[in-house]
Amino acid sequence: MNYFDILGVSVDDSTEHINDAYRRLARQFHPDQHPEASAAERARWTDAMASINAAWEALKDPIRRAQYRASIEPVRASSSGGRQAGPTYRAARVGECDLCGSGPATQVVFKHQHAYLIRATVYTSQLELCRGCALALGRARQNRTLIAGWWGVLSFFRNLGIVWTNTIQLRRAARLTSPTRSPEVVTPLATPLPQGRSVFGRFGFWFTMVVVAIIATAIAGSASQPESVGSNLPVGSNPSVGWATGNCIAGSGPVYPVSCSAPHVGQIVARVTDRSLCSVQAESYVEDAPWVWCIDENL
Ligand SMILES: [Zn+2]
Repeated sequence: MNYFDILGVSVDDSTEHINDAYRRLARQFHPDQHPEASAAERARWTDAMASINAAWEALKDPIRRAQYRASIEPVRASSSGGRQAGPTYRAARVGECDLCGSGPATQVVFKHQHAYLIRATVYTSQLELCRGCALALGRARQNRTLIAGWWGVLSFFRNLGIVWTNTIQLRRAARLTSPTRSPEVVTPLATPLPQGRSVFGRFGFWFTMVVVAIIATAIAGSASQPESVGSNLPVGSNPSVGWATGNCIAGSGPVYPVSCSAPHVGQIVARVTDRSLCSVQAESYVEDAPWVWCIDENL
C-alpha cells in the first residue's frame, strides 16, 4: 500500500485531482469534524488523518511525486518478478463504506447541533457508511445533540427535528448486515468504527429525560396551584390600631396592626371571606374568622 492508494488516486492523476482527493478525505477524517467523538474514537480519526497528511505531503508537489513514484515502481516490479505488479489496491466504491471500505454501505445524513441562546451551529455529515461506522457516528452525534442542542428557543424546535432525523437514519443503518471488507480496498480506517453503547445507554438520553421530567413537574405544579397562595400569619392584636384595610402589620410571631408610618412587614390590602379571594400580589393572609385579611408584603 502506497501514498497513491491512501489518497485513492492513480499515479497519473493531476495535482488538482490529488488536492481534491485530499480535501474530500480531510472533510471526512479530520478530528475537528468529529467533535462528538470519544477519546478512543478521536485517536482513530487522528491516526487516519496522519496517514492522509503524510500521503498528501509526498504527492502534492509534482517533482516530489515523480520521485516518489520512481521510488515505488522498481520495488513493485522486482518484488513480483517483472511486469506483473504487486497486489493491486483500490479506493472504496459505491456500496462500500467511505470510512472503512466495508460493505454493504448506505447513504446516511447525521446531524448534531450546538445551541447557546441565540447562537447555534448545526454539523451535518453525509456519508456512505457500513453498519458499524454508521451506528458509531450516528449514536455519537445523537448523544451530542441531546446534550448541546436544546439551549435556545428556535434551536429547541430545530433540535426536535434533528433528533427525529438521526433516529430514522440510525434505524436504517441498523438494518444493514454486518460489514465485511475486501482485502484490496484502501481506506484510512482499516476496520469499522466501534459502535459503542446504544443511544439509550448514553448520557444525552438520560440528561434529556431528566430535563423533560423537571419541566413537566414545573408545568404540572404551576397549573395545579391556586391563583392566590399566600401563607397564613398568626393573628395578634394591638389596642391602639385596629384590623382594617389600609393599615399595616408588624410582628415576628403573631402579627398585629400598626400605622403604616411605623416599621411594618406588610400592608392589609383587602378584607375577604375566603383566602382564595386575595389577589395574587397578596403573598400572605391572616385568618380571623369570619374574615380573612389579605397582606401585601411589598408595601
Ligand atoms: Zn465503515
